[in-house]
Parts: sequence; structure tokens; C-alpha cells
Amino acid sequence: MNHTPPPASAPTSAPLATLERWLTGPRFGALPAREAGHPVPALSFEFFPPKTEALETQLWHCIRRLEPLAPRFVSVTYGAGGSTQARTHATVSRIVTETTLTPAAHLTCVAASRAEVEAIAQQYWDAGVRHIVALRGDVPGGGRCEPHPDGYAYAADLVAGLRRIADFEISVAAYPEVHPAAVSPEDDLDNLRRKLDAGATRAITNFFFETETYLRFLDRCLAAGITVPIVPGIMPVSNFSQLGKFAAMSGCSVPAWMGHLFEGTEDDLEIRRMVAAIIAAEQVRLLQANGIDEFHFYTLNRPDLTNAIAHILGVRPRAPPPRSVPA
Ligand SMILES: Cc1cc2nc3c(=O)[nH]c(=O)nc-3n(C[C@H](O)[C@H](O)[C@H](O)COP(=O)(O)OP(=O)(O)OC[C@H]3O[C@@H](n4cnc5c(N)ncnc54)[C@H](O)[C@@H]3O)c2cc1C
Repeated sequence: MNHTPPPASAPTSAPLATLERWLTGPRFGALPAREAGHPVPALSFEFFPPKTEALETQLWHCIRRLEPLAPRFVSVTYGAGGSTQARTHATVSRIVTETTLTPAAHLTCVAASRAEVEAIAQQYWDAGVRHIVALRGDVPGGGRCEPHPDGYAYAADLVAGLRRIADFEISVAAYPEVHPAAVSPEDDLDNLRRKLDAGATRAITNFFFETETYLRFLDRCLAAGITVPIVPGIMPVSNFSQLGKFAAMSGCSVPAWMGHLFEGTEDDLEIRRMVAAIIAAEQVRLLQANGIDEFHFYTLNRPDLTNAIAHILGVRPRAPPPRSVPA
């Protein structure tokens, strides 16, 4: 069939009938299907340490549901200033002893002395934890982050400190939309490079909703000579009304189209969760179509959306291998 090429842009003054819009407007490619033989992507899952017994049950249900997907690692967040120290440690230790999963412990340095942070890192090493997600953290309650007088000021300093303690695998945070406190995008990228130069081998991004934002960020990383994995952080969002404040704090913009998709779903959790799954599925498929083969999921300790999206990515459950029992 011989199509006349469509004009570069369609008139926007009046709404067009569907067929006319299709014939004259910009054309979009469909979401591509995964090609046969394409390798299955590597996943990692993030959990937060539970505060109550009920949340503990929820977390462990989530861990058990996601364990058969054989993620590369699972990470457990850490309250800045040590507010979740015991709970993060307990969760990570239980993952080591009771599951087949490889844990990564988040560790923040804000509002703590070097000695405190180093003691925690040493405890993790002694407990068999070999992967740390090294972060500065934020001061509880917001406000300006003043470094502890005897502490590590920034995540890059923490990475260097961890390297001196043991041969940890170290991941760090990256911000496709620039960290809110960064002086400039260039400074923020320099900071990422400092973290990698100090010994980190992977960056995990803050969540984002515009796929192009992340892909442009990859371009900027590459132009700056950064070639380690910059793993996209995917957050399936079903509680849209609470997203705005949370996203703004971490420097993630919420596109207007997302608000339109969730419009009118405030009292309908079922629809909200379906919309959330579709948004996240489109996002990961677009990323996958652009060659991304590693994904980090902010699970919020709920397995269903992550499970469904992992399935769409081509990941299938495996029977976990028997755990080796120390002699
Ligand atoms: C994947 C991921 C996981 C996270 N997990 C947790 C968690 O478990 N617990 C938690 O509390 N928070 C967590 N956070 C949030 C994080 O702690 C905050 O975003 C925090 O504000 C910055 O941490 P960072 O490690 O990126 O800091 P840094 O890399 O130290 O950067 C912090 C800011 O300082 C600037 N900066 C760095 N070095 C310098 C310098 N020498 N001079 C001037 N400015 C500088 C940077 O540009 C940036 O604006 C996580 C974030 C991500 C993306």
C-alpha cells in the first residue's frame, strides 16, 4: 500500500475525527513486543522494614511471593539518622538466614558519626551481607542537611569509607530529574561520578514517570563517561492522591497525563490498581524496547503489581534452589 506521508504536524485548533486524526496527525509506533530469544531482564526489589507485627506479616508475604522470581538482589531501606537501624538489620538478617535471596542493606550517613556508620557496616559484613546501598539520607522532618561533625558529609564519602571496611558491592542513588538540593544538573552528575570513582559499581535511580527523562539521563551519563549500570527505579503507583508530595520531596515530577488517567478513581481501589499496573507496564516495556535489561522495583512491600509487571517483562517464577545449610 502506498501511503502519502503525513504532514509534520496536525492542525490543533479543532478536534479531528478519529480517522482524520490518524491519517493526518503524527504517527506513533506501538509498544514493541519482546523479541523471541531476548534475554530475560534482571530484577531487584526494594522493601522497607516494618513497624508493626501486621506490617511484618505483609512484608514476609511479599518477600515469599517475589522470591521465586529470583531477583539479582533485594534491598531494605534504612531510616536516615538510624531510625530503623534495628528493624533494617533484623529484616536483612532474616533474609540472609531464611531465604534464597541476596540482600542489600541501605545505609545512610546523615546525622550519624563515622564510628556509628562503620560499626553498622561491620555488623552487616559479619552477618554475611555483601551489598550496601550507600546513601546520604535526609534529615528527619525535612530541612537543611548539615553533616554530623564527625560524620560522612555525602554519599561519596560514605562509599569511600565502606571500601576501607570491607570488599562490599556498593550501589548508590542517581536522579534522572536532578536531586532537589543539587546546585546544577552538571554538579549532580559530577556527584554521581564521585560516588562511582569512590568505589560504587551501580546506580539505582529515583523513580520517574516520563521514560524519556530517564533515557536522556542515560545519554548525559554516557556523555560524562559513566558506563556502570544505571538501573531504573520503577514505582508502580496506585495511591495517586498521595503521590504529589512524596514525589516533589524526592525531585520527581508527576506528569499531567498521569493525573488524567487516575481522575475519578479516588474511591475505587480496584481500578486504581489496574491503572497503576498499566502505567508501569507501559513504562517498563518502553524501557525494554530501548535496550534496558535491569530494573529495580520499589515494591512498597506489596507483591502483586511488581509480580504482574515482572511477568510482562518476561520473568517467570523459578523453584528456589534448596538453601545450603552451614556445616
Ligand atoms: C535508590 C534510592 C534509595 C534510597 N534509599 C533511601 C533509604 O533507604 N533511606 C533514606 O533515608 N533515603 C533513601 N533515599 C533518599 C536519599 O537518601 C535522598 O535522596 C538524599 O537526599 C540524597 O541521598 P544521596 O545518597 O543521593 O546523597 P548524595 O549523593 O550525597 O547527594 C546529596 C546532595 O548533595 C549534593 N552534593 C554531593 N556532594 C556534594 C559536595 N561535595 N558539595 C556540595 N553538594 C554536594 C548532591 O548533588 C545532592 O544534591 C534513596 C534514594 C534512592 C534514589
